[in-house]
Amino acid sequence: MMVDKSTVKEEALKRIKITKTAHSRLGEVDFNNLAFGKTYTDHMLVADFDGKEWKNAEILPFQNLSVSPSNAAWHYGQAIFEGIKAYKDPQGNPMIFRPYDNYKRLNLSAERMGMVEVPEWLFVGGLDLMIDLDRDWIPTNEGSSLYLRPFMIAADEYIGVRPSETYKFMIINSPSGPYFNQPIKLLVQDKFVRAFPGGVGFAKAAGNYGGTMYPTMQAKKQGYDQILWVDGFEHKYLQECGTMNVFAIIGNTAITPDLSQGTILEGVTRSSVMEVLKDMGLTVEERPISIDEIAAAYKAGTLREVFGTGTAASVAYVEELDYKDLQIRMDSTKYEIGAEVIRRLDAIRTGRAADTRHWNYLVGR
Ligand SMILES: *Cc1c(COP(=O)(O)O)cnc(C)c1O
Repeated sequence: MMVDKSTVKEEALKRIKITKTAHSRLGEVDFNNLAFGKTYTDHMLVADFDGKEWKNAEILPFQNLSVSPSNAAWHYGQAIFEGIKAYKDPQGNPMIFRPYDNYKRLNLSAERMGMVEVPEWLFVGGLDLMIDLDRDWIPTNEGSSLYLRPFMIAADEYIGVRPSETYKFMIINSPSGPYFNQPIKLLVQDKFVRAFPGGVGFAKAAGNYGGTMYPTMQAKKQGYDQILWVDGFEHKYLQECGTMNVFAIIGNTAITPDLSQGTILEGVTRSSVMEVLKDMGLTVEERPISIDEIAAAYKAGTLREVFGTGTAASVAYVEELDYKDLQIRMDSTKYEIGAEVIRRLDAIRTGRAADTRHWNYLVGR
């Protein structure tokens, strides 16, 4: 925590104007049938950086923006985002899972993209006020949550190439239903590359996704769900898959690629899963791991599980992993470690297990 929470809240209340909707859409939503990312809560937050300071911070009814066609973000891609989830505890109190980690990461992304820093009262304080206001939008069915999407874009109306002087920070929230743990098929990509050392792989930047659309489309045509990205030099050291970090369980050791090359997004779920795995008695190693090592473990019968981790899916079991001639086939219905990780993580996030690491941020207090 950067500053005392109550100080941050006080500043947020002072600086963020709240205009409530006159017509809540809550009654129109079927919470048993939520398509991811298509329904938004009643309110959104918008704030402007005018080149000197953040102003016009407002929580207002969800609505379209009016944007100049010369908006710099559209042309040169200064656009970054975050993904966070909010839950309710058994008493119905809203909680946000580890928002300070996302706050720090957004500003790390901002720095790398030459963008302005977002203050804590706006990011954390803004989330608090918004979730407090839209608390009835947090689904409580098992496995459901409210997905929070803070993001920032360049706002200059200028098509010359230079860092924007003005920015827009926004938050929108989308209720999301239970993520059915559909096992996934991964293609290890040996031609296209997602990130290089010195690049922007560690930033949650919109352009990182833009570059992966075409290769992912090709992989989908071949029947895969996602690409497992590997390094651009030897095409064999694992980076991550799609929107998720990756873990391999070999024997009693959980291995996940280390972050030293700056080519991997440091997932908040990744960090939580590493802690939970340690609680479960596994050895956790952050280090380079090659597809050859995975293949050798598979052949030796010591490769127990492979899964991806991320806020949207929590944990996604990998049942197929293909690399050139190598075909790895796993029976994910027998994954015990991944399943236990989800159980423990869910219990903490929904207030049913002790939150010993203070991951849950209590809204409205
Ligand atoms: C967001 C993201 C992740 C997962 O991060 P979490 O904080 O766990 O949601 C992993 N990889 C990429 C490329 C991402 O954008």
